Amino acid sequence: MGKPMEVQCGDCEECVDICPVSAFTERYFRKEEPHEARYDARKCEKYFENTEKTTGMAVCGLCFYVCPHGRK
Ligand code: SF4
Ligand code: SF4
Repeated sequence: MGKPMEVQCGDCEECVDICPVSAFTERYFRKEEPHEARYDARKCEKYFENTEKTTGMAVCGLCFYVCPHGRK
């Protein structure tokens, strides 16, 4: 297991910038805070529901696509 992703982000904010529904809050990782303080899964789910209604497919994954750690 590598380090938690938050530790490796540095100055990168690619996923924050690309998410069409701003699901990421730009908050740094703090172990006393809940996961939801940094990422709003409801916004992402809603976006998937909407794309399924309009295009017939529930797809996004832009945040994974832009992440430099995911491309290595
Ligand atoms: S999958 Fe898409 S909507 Fe969901 S968090 Fe990533 S970029 Fe945002
Ligand atoms: S795109 Fe990847 S490295 Fe950049 S902030 Fe998001 S999770 Fe971190």
